[in-house]
Amino acid sequence: MKLSLQQIQNVKGDARRTFLAPDAAVALAAIQNDADGLIYSEMWRDPVDSLLARRLKSGPLVSYSPHNYGLAVDLNVDAILNQKKIRYEDLLWLMKRRGWYCFRRDGNQDQVGSEHFNFLGDQAEKYLAKSTQDPTTWPTIPELKIWDRYGQDFQMETKEVQVRLAKLGFFTEPFTGQRDMYTREAILAFQRAWDLTQTGSPDMTLCRTLAFVTADICYSTAVAA
Ligand SMILES: [Zn+2]
Repeated sequence: MKLSLQQIQNVKGDARRTFLAPDAAVALAAIQNDADGLIYSEMWRDPVDSLLARRLKSGPLVSYSPHNYGLAVDLNVDAILNQKKIRYEDLLWLMKRRGWYCFRRDGNQDQVGSEHFNFLGDQAEKYLAKSTQDPTTWPTIPELKIWDRYGQDFQMETKEVQVRLAKLGFFTEPFTGQRDMYTREAILAFQRAWDLTQTGSPDMTLCRTLAFVTADICYSTAVAA
């Protein structure tokens, strides 16, 4: 899969990797402009960042967070509200106006996830319609966005799995497309490395994580706020 990322300039806060999907980056730069800067705690998560987040903060599986695709940012909400003397609902509005929606659908600032924003873009309504006030429906929203963009890349024949495992040095046999013992061991090694359930078969989670970890990343020029 091709993962396109664009760097945002003039970023304040703790975000180390200031990359986003190009359309998300342009929209966020516009918000930075509207709001005279924002303060971030996290932006793009590469595979290793994601594994660390999983180990340290029980984050989702590698390739399952919208942060992996440059479609999410975490804001330092308290710092922003203090600095700009605005209310949380004003911040929600500033973000929403440019296609960025809070993970929470209830506007509650004091609960977990109030700092996390997903880029839904022009088709936001289509994604939001899939959720209700029930918090268990909220993760569906960015997940659908990820599927629209990369779902095709998450489907792989066994041969493609072998090619991608070879790219990482896990597989050195001919690409037969057969699920032989070498393929099984290579898959198990990859699953152990990325904290996946060790099935030894090319299941959906294996293919998705493999697609993400072996993605061709195209970085483009920075967008200034
Ligand atoms: Zn987040």
